[in-house]
Amino acid sequence: MPYQLPDLGYAYDALEPHIDAKTMEIHHSKHHSGYTAKLNSAMEGTGLDGTPIVTLLTQMDMGNAALRNNAGGYYNHDLFWKVISPNNRGSLSGALKTAIEASFGSVESFKETFSNAAAGQFGSGWAWLCVHADGSLKVCSTPNQDCPLMPGVGCGGTPILGLDVWEHAYYLNYQNRRPDYINAFFNIINWNEVAQRYEQGK
Ligand code: MN
Repeated sequence: MPYQLPDLGYAYDALEPHIDAKTMEIHHSKHHSGYTAKLNSAMEGTGLDGTPIVTLLTQMDMGNAALRNNAGGYYNHDLFWKVISPNNRGSLSGALKTAIEASFGSVESFKETFSNAAAGQFGSGWAWLCVHADGSLKVCSTPNQDCPLMPGVGCGGTPILGLDVWEHAYYLNYQNRRPDYINAFFNIINWNEVAQRYEQGK
C-alpha cells in the first residue's frame, strides 16, 4: 500500500495573512505531493512496503539518501500542516505550558530559543520542539528533510512542533525575511494539536 498525500484539512487561504494561499497551494500540491511520490519510488525493492511512516523513520538507513530525504519530507510536512491549522487552535496551557516553563525557564525564553534555531539553520531545514520519554523538551534544527525521529538526528525524542524554513515555505510572501515568517508562525500554531502530541510522545 503506497503512502498517500494527506489532505490539508483546511483551505489554502485559511492561514492568511500569515502564510499566503499561493505558497500553501504550491507547498502542499507540488512539494509535499512530490515527496510522497518520490517516497513511494524509493520504497520499491526495499521490502519495506506497508511500514508505518514513524517506524520507517526510527529505523532509517541513513545511507539511503532517496529514502531518508523523501520519508522525512513526507512526515515533516504532515506534522507541519497539523500544527499550523486554523481550526480549534486553543492556547498554550496546562501540562505542555508547565513543561515548556520547566525546560526553558519561560514561554518567552522558549519562543526565543525556537526562533533562534529556525533563523540560524543555514540553508534549507527545519526547527523542532521535541519531547523525550521523561517529559522534558528540547529545541533543535535539522538540515534538509532530516527528522529527529531518525537515528542520531537533532535533539532526538518525538517532534511535537516543527517549522519548515526551506525558502519554498515563505519566499513568495516574505522573500529573504525569514525572521518575519518565523514571527508569523507563532500566530497560527495549533496548541491543542501540539499538546496532544506532547501527551502521546512523553
Ligand atoms: Mn516544505
